[in-house]
Amino acid sequence: MTSILKSSNGWHASKDPAEIGIKSYPIPGTTIKIRLAEKAAPLLVALAAEWHKLVEPIDAGTLDTWGYAFRPIRGQTEKLSNHASGTAIDFSANAHPLGKADTFTPEQCKTIRAITAKYGCRWGGDYVHRLDSMHAEINLTPKEVIERIKALGLDNKK
Ligand SMILES: [Zn+2]
Repeated sequence: MTSILKSSNGWHASKDPAEIGIKSYPIPGTTIKIRLAEKAAPLLVALAAEWHKLVEPIDAGTLDTWGYAFRPIRGQTEKLSNHASGTAIDFSANAHPLGKADTFTPEQCKTIRAITAKYGCRWGGDYVHRLDSMHAEINLTPKEVIERIKALGLDNKK
């Protein structure tokens, strides 16, 4: 008997990307693709496109923006990161290292908070215990994600 693995936001996580519907999504307006869980992708793709347009370009220089990765939360051994369920994205990791404050301007922070909230996500730059400014993750249940996608009209755009 195997139990279903979950990442910290409660989404199904797996070492096998196919098992949880991980696909590679082109981000509109950029040259990159990000691997994400199919069910959460409409929100995360829209978030990434707005991050690129309104916060900072995510396809400049070395590729350091990514989604799915099967791994524990860094610094912890037991809890799986939301990257393990394909429901989190790290944006421009090199410019916004883990634990480093003030890598975004106050104006950028304001924009990030607005767009992450819009797409049902939580921003790692607001973590109290350990700052993770590159990171945004789905902060809704799968059912709430379906509702949010509908409410934003993202289900018609195919
Ligand atoms: Zn991350």
